[in-house]
Amino acid sequence: MKILIILAHPEEKSFNAALFNTAIKSLEEAGHEVKTTDLYQENYQPVSGKGNFTQLENPNYFKQQNEELFAVQQSTLMPDIVSEQEKIEWCEIMIWQFPLYWFSVPAILKGWIDKVFTMGKFYDNGKIFDNGFSAGKKAMLSLTTGGPQKNYVEDKYGDINSILFPIHRGILEFLGFSVLQPEIIYSVERLTDEERKTLLDRWSKRLMNIEQEIMRN
Ligand code: FAD
Repeated sequence: MKILIILAHPEEKSFNAALFNTAIKSLEEAGHEVKTTDLYQENYQPVSGKGNFTQLENPNYFKQQNEELFAVQQSTLMPDIVSEQEKIEWCEIMIWQFPLYWFSVPAILKGWIDKVFTMGKFYDNGKIFDNGFSAGKKAMLSLTTGGPQKNYVEDKYGDINSILFPIHRGILEFLGFSVLQPEIIYSVERLTDEERKTLLDRWSKRLMNIEQEIMRN
């Protein structure tokens, strides 16, 4: 299968980087094709705005979605957006690897989302959810948390599925992706090295069997 992995972590020796590298290795060993974007390594500029376009349809009043519709037709999106869009269109599975920041994705990944999923190409009137342009593709969140699993309950931080709902439903399913079970490693800094290694092995085994997992769903 064709798999795209996006990493949003600034430290190359981090546990998130270890999960990212494990994923690449395991998927390639299992015979899959892998493409990646390492957002911090590539110094990805996450601020979405007029700079997304080489030319504006209306320079007097900036409205991003109108400009996106124009730019998709005129091929006037900036190259850093186009190259990411090509990878998304290429892939059958997209994985986002990130540490949970403020119950959400890190800003660099949010900016990537704001820039690359342009109207007219990834969604449009009536082209959302089951009719979305990415229907048939799968997406998976792979994340780490600082907080322990026991705190991710209703009367404390809240249920993790509720926390991830805006990403799962408001972004991925909205675009047409089917969402796979997220891979969540809680409280990663408080684990022992051995425990972390076991979790890397668990991740590797899951990815080695990703095709079977998809067929079962
Ligand atoms: P690291 O600190 O990089 O790694 C943990 C340990 O694993 C380190 O000791 C490292 O050396 C070790 N390690 C690295 N590679 C390996 C390997 N191959 N094998 C074994 N061990 C290895 N947490 C929440 O729960 N909820 C929040 O809303 C939240 N918001 C945050 C907001 C901000 C702005 C920030 C900065 C943090 C927030 N956090 C939150 C905490 C954050 O989610 C965690 O700090 C993060 O998930 C930890 O992952 P990491 O990859 O950075 O860990």
